Amino acid sequence: MTLVAERLSVAGGDARQDLMGMTLDELCTYAEEVLEERSFRGRQLFKWLYQKTCSDFSVMTDVAKTVRARLQEIARISRLEERSVQRSRDGTIKFLWGLEDGLQVESVLIPEERRLTLCISTQVGCPLDCDFCVTGKGGYARNLSRAEILLQIIQAQQHSPERKISNIVLMGMGEPLLNLDSVLPAMEIAQDNEGLGFSHRRITLSTVGLLPQLEEFGRRSRINLAVSLHGTTNPQRTALMPINRKYPLEDLMAALRRFPLPHRKQITIEYILIKGVNDSVEDARRLVGLLRGIPAKVNLIPYNNNPFTDYKTSEQRDILAFQEELMEARVHTMTRLNRGEDIDAACGQLGGYKQQRPQRRQAEVVEEQR
Ligand code: SAH
Repeated sequence: MTLVAERLSVAGGDARQDLMGMTLDELCTYAEEVLEERSFRGRQLFKWLYQKTCSDFSVMTDVAKTVRARLQEIARISRLEERSVQRSRDGTIKFLWGLEDGLQVESVLIPEERRLTLCISTQVGCPLDCDFCVTGKGGYARNLSRAEILLQIIQAQQHSPERKISNIVLMGMGEPLLNLDSVLPAMEIAQDNEGLGFSHRRITLSTVGLLPQLEEFGRRSRINLAVSLHGTTNPQRTALMPINRKYPLEDLMAALRRFPLPHRKQITIEYILIKGVNDSVEDARRLVGLLRGIPAKVNLIPYNNNPFTDYKTSEQRDILAFQEELMEARVHTMTRLNRGEDIDAACGQLGGYKQQRPQRRQAEVVEEQR
C-alpha cells in the first residue's frame, strides 16, 4: 500500500479506499502511484470531490473511461447518513449525521441577514467536561476524520441550494484543538479555491485554550481564533471549566498575547453569561483587565438553559450592565442571539449525551493527544 492509502482509514466493511478528505497533493500522488496516471488526474478528482461535490465516479466525464472503471473497483467517496434534519421557527436547521461506525454528530445551519453560518462538530462527544455544557455530559468517543468534518459542510450545503454557506464555525461538538491532524487538512481543503473555496477570514475555530496546541495552530493555520473564557478568576473559571487547572488564566492570556495574528485580525473572546456565577459588573471589570494588550472582541452569550444543568441564563438588566461596562472601556463587544432554541440547536445543546460509550477521563485524552 502507498503512504497515502495507509494513512486514510477504511471503514464500514468496504475495503475500497475512501477519497473523501484527501488533499490536492495526496490525490495527485494517488493518481501517480495507485492509478499509474499523470498527476493532473488527481486535480480532476479533487474538483469533482469538493467543487462539484460528486460522489459517483461514473459521471466524471473528463476522466478516461478505463480510469473510472478502475476507480469504481478500488475507491469510493463516502457520505454521512442523514439521520434527521430539524427546522427551527427562526430558520435554523439542525442536522444529525450517522457515521460509519454507528455513532452520530450534529451540525447547525444558521441563516442571518448577511451571513449563512454553519456550525460543525470536530469530535464525537467531548472529553473536556465543562460543567455547563450538554455535549460534555455524554462523554467522549473519538475524533472525527477529515472526511467526516468536510462532509458536514458539503451535505449541509446541499440542503440550501439557493444560498451559499458564507461562514464556518468550528463550535459544534468537541474540542477542535484535540483533533488538529484532521481539522487542519480539512480546513485546508475548505479554503482551497479548487476545493470548497472559503476565505480564511470566514472560518473560525473555537477552543477552551489548550496551550501547546494553540501554538501549533498559530503556526500552521490562518483561520480565525475564538477562545471560550467564561470566567475572570482562576477559582471561578476552574469551577466551570476543569481544563483551567492545567492552563490557568494567566498562562492562557499570556499565550493569547503571543498568538501570531495575521494583519488586522482580532481574537474573539466567548463569554457565557450565567446568572449569579460570572455576570457581575466586577466580572466585567476584571475581563477588561485580562484583555489589556490583546486585540480582542468579546462575544457575550447569554447561557442557554437546559435540563442537564442547574445553571440559568442571566437577567436582561445584568447582561446590559455587563455589556455597558465593556463598551465604556472601549472593548469591542457584541451579544450573541440564541438561535434554534426550540430544536435544541443553540450553543452547548448539541446532544453528545445520546452516545452511550464509556466515558474517558479528560486528563487521559488530553495527554494522549499531545
Ligand atoms: N470546545 C470548543 C468548541 C465547542 S463549544 C470550545 O469550548 O470553545 C462552542 C461554544 O458554546 C463555547 O464557547 C461553549 O462554551 C459554548 N457553550 C456551551 N454550552 C453552552 C450553553 N449552554 N449556553 C451557551 N453557550 C454554551
